[in-house]
Amino acid sequence: MSPTLPPAQRGFSRTAVMALLGRSGPLSRVDIARQLGISSATVTQITKQLLVEGLITEADSVPSAGGRPAIRLMVVPAAGRAIGVKVAPDHVTLVHVTLDGTVTDSTTHPFDAFADDAVDRLVALLAPEVVQWPATAPLMGVGVGVPGRVGRDGIVDSPVLGWHALPLGRVLTRGLGLPVLVENDVNTVGIAQLLFGRGRELDDFLVLTLGWGVGLSLVQDGVLRRGASGAAGEIGHVPVTDNGRLCACGNRGCLEAYLSFAGLVRTAAEHGVLEAGDRPEALTALAEAGESAALEVLRGAGRLLGRTVAGVINVADPQGVIVTGEGMSLWPYLSDGFEPALSRHLFRPMDGVGVIADAWNDQVWAQGAAAVILSAPFTSPASENDPVDQVRARITARAARDAATARKDASS
Ligand SMILES: [Zn+2]
Repeated sequence: MSPTLPPAQRGFSRTAVMALLGRSGPLSRVDIARQLGISSATVTQITKQLLVEGLITEADSVPSAGGRPAIRLMVVPAAGRAIGVKVAPDHVTLVHVTLDGTVTDSTTHPFDAFADDAVDRLVALLAPEVVQWPATAPLMGVGVGVPGRVGRDGIVDSPVLGWHALPLGRVLTRGLGLPVLVENDVNTVGIAQLLFGRGRELDDFLVLTLGWGVGLSLVQDGVLRRGASGAAGEIGHVPVTDNGRLCACGNRGCLEAYLSFAGLVRTAAEHGVLEAGDRPEALTALAEAGESAALEVLRGAGRLLGRTVAGVINVADPQGVIVTGEGMSLWPYLSDGFEPALSRHLFRPMDGVGVIADAWNDQVWAQGAAAVILSAPFTSPASENDPVDQVRARITARAARDAATARKDASS
């Protein structure tokens, strides 16, 4: 075998090594070769270059079968930074994160998505964040999470924000002068789980988000599935009854019409537990106080959810389901109905699928948006004009410049 790999194979293997280290944490070269099914010589060649570029470093040594301790390699957190932005109808949450997903700064700004000049205001809000950061680590780009459908070209259709066929990715990229990747907000949580969360140990999983809406992201073979139009995972619009409530999407009987905060409050009002228009926190308070009618409303909603999720599991065959979102305060009460309904409707071979409840904080949406940028060095190249490749180019250009400076310093 030739000691030098052809460029295409080198690019792919290099990405695969970064992806593996990003997802698994520190590994020895022997483990990298075994897990990727490539030769030790190839791993040595690739990791040597990544070490020179400062993208990975030696973490520690572990005992090995051969007697000589094996050095483990890890991704350098400060080798790159990203900004994550979550857009909601009335506010924008923004975080700065390092390459390992650590949040270094977080702010929330009031915002009116329905204003005529909403996108101009978003650019004005983000512009100072892009320039104020010192160039100690390359800012790889800005990830933006929005509720709604996001096409591959960053075009947004979001009834929640009042945005239709809006080329948000292109407008923000031009306005900020660096790569901007726009993604559905539930998908951003899926990517964050895959890179930094409970999904690290799983290749096939679902992330179910509960709260103002009901969403799902689908990860198969370690890859987020977006579907043909970018709308995969719309579990909230699975029909659960004939001629049911009118959903915000225009159809009747969708899951979200019953399981969103508004849907749960409406059911509670129909049972005389709450007043129509009450806040969801009122329902949580009644459940926490053990009010039996409130508990029965939540148990019933949990049954509906469990039956629907069983159907998705039977189709997707995941290893596990991660449940999260701002509605997690209601999960202990929903799960009373969810668990038995799920096990009753699961196809037998799927019996072992685990349900993992994951704690929530409000930064997670924005952290997920940043993960869309951070995952770029860890995903396979698509095309020359792909914004993901522009993100990758920023981090490698910076690393190459640093390496050249270091070589010059060493020789002077
Ligand atoms: Zn619907």
